[in-house]
Amino acid sequence: MLRAQGTYATESNSKAQVKGFKGYVINKQDRNYESIRQSMHWHRSKPNRYPDLIVQARNEQDVIAAVSHAANHKLKISVHSGGHNAMGSSLRNGGMLLDVGGMANLEIDTNRQLASIQPGVRSIQLMAAARDKGLSFPVPHCPTVSLSGFTMGGGQGMNWGSRSGMACFSIAAADIVTADGQLRHASPDQNPDLYWAVRGGGPGFFGVVTRLWLELYPLPRAVHTSNYIIPLDKLDEATAILDELVAIKSDRVELINLLVHNPAAPADAPSHDSKICFVSAFAFGNSAEESTDLLAPMSASKLGPMSIHKEENLPFSFEDIYSQYFSLQVSPGMMARYKVDNVMTDEPAKVLRNLTNHFRKAPSPHAHVLTAMGLNLKPHDDACFSSIASTYVGCYAIWEHEQDDDANYEWLGNCIPLMDPYNKGHYVNEVEPRFNPNRLRECFSSGAWARLEKLRAKYDPAGVFHHYLRET
Ligand SMILES: Cc1cc2nc3c(=O)[nH]c(=O)nc-3n(C[C@H](O)[C@H](O)[C@H](O)COP(=O)(O)OP(=O)(O)OC[C@H]3O[C@@H](n4cnc5c(N)ncnc54)[C@H](O)[C@@H]3O)c2cc1C
Repeated sequence: MLRAQGTYATESNSKAQVKGFKGYVINKQDRNYESIRQSMHWHRSKPNRYPDLIVQARNEQDVIAAVSHAANHKLKISVHSGGHNAMGSSLRNGGMLLDVGGMANLEIDTNRQLASIQPGVRSIQLMAAARDKGLSFPVPHCPTVSLSGFTMGGGQGMNWGSRSGMACFSIAAADIVTADGQLRHASPDQNPDLYWAVRGGGPGFFGVVTRLWLELYPLPRAVHTSNYIIPLDKLDEATAILDELVAIKSDRVELINLLVHNPAAPADAPSHDSKICFVSAFAFGNSAEESTDLLAPMSASKLGPMSIHKEENLPFSFEDIYSQYFSLQVSPGMMARYKVDNVMTDEPAKVLRNLTNHFRKAPSPHAHVLTAMGLNLKPHDDACFSSIASTYVGCYAIWEHEQDDDANYEWLGNCIPLMDPYNKGHYVNEVEPRFNPNRLRECFSSGAWARLEKLRAKYDPAGVFHHYLRET
């Protein structure tokens, strides 16, 4: 089983404490508590928050037993699947951390183009299983992100433009254990209010998802990419071209713009001279000719002539996308300290213009700004995801050493007033509440937030589940 993040207890000193629970129970006093606690969180800036109890479920019955136990003993529950949430929302003080990351069964119904997955299934597992059946899903760009945390919060997955912008709109149904210990099926026909809430509710959802049914799509047979490295000084010009390209490109072209440190810059180059703009387009066609056609507007644009380096129409694969994103975002092998915040916006050029000088002064060479364009998002009455905008702009503070925490937090905090004037909301899976305790609430329209609160009061009146994180 793929378990790149999250460690399993091998012994359970305290199993008797949770009636009917067959998985592992780890108390604060247990020798392995701290290593298990730390393994719940992907990156190295581990939150100083300590649950009283960590329980690692093996199946749905375990989840029901754990939720009932927590409700009876007034333990607040937080849920962990893949541990990739940057704010570490599953690590809370006190209460029970319920780890469902080990539940990773996956079945594909080829005829109905449907995947049935347990919450711990990772991006690469679903991508590979679907691909083998000639199908695809807009999976996260990192192989080890879990599909449940990703889809429940929105999910900008591969080929987002053809897949309604966010993967949550491809949740066909879910099984959810609610605070009363009941297992409920949520679909357009059954418990439609829970179905609405699970499609975008994200890291503050008031229940445990034990299974998701995800819509699959025909597999694009020929993924191609074109990449352009542009000096940061030409960012204004490049964003104007990108705006034009977004208007004319096919939905089957995924376009990103990364402001990053230039790995080829001399080690002693001043920080402000060593930044580049890396524009990447992925075409999801069915033949080499079709993908080349899809990328033709990029090849014909002025991106090429203004580039320091370009490569066009390279045959690629979904696996290649994992490695490209990963090596650009985090140096290979580096387990970094990591924080992120973002805006959803219709005015990316203005956001980037505001951020450019601040980005040049980033205290860490690993910091970057990622712009995901042409999301093709539309409001859905049957989903609480409600940050509807054409573009995502995320600022990523990534650094190595604890002594640099303050400088990097300060840098990220100072990104926020530069991005926020143009926001149409925020993406709930990639925010940081330390600078603004209301950040997570601002990820939803006021109508969606009010409805979520009403549903929380209905399904979790005693507050068994932790609310959205308000500070770190
Ligand atoms: C390297 C990296 C790459 C990423 N790439 C992408 C990307 O391409 N696109 C994108 O949109 N996002 C991406 N993300 C962000 C990712 O979508 C979020 O961090 C997401 O919250 C991770 O889900 P998880 O289950 O792995 O995390 P966890 O930390 O385990 O879960 C986060 C929260 O989600 C809720 N949750 C998770 N599972 C359940 C469940 N079964 N039942 C109830 N609640 C649950 C809980 O509140 C939990 O605290 C990336 C993150 C990283 C670190």
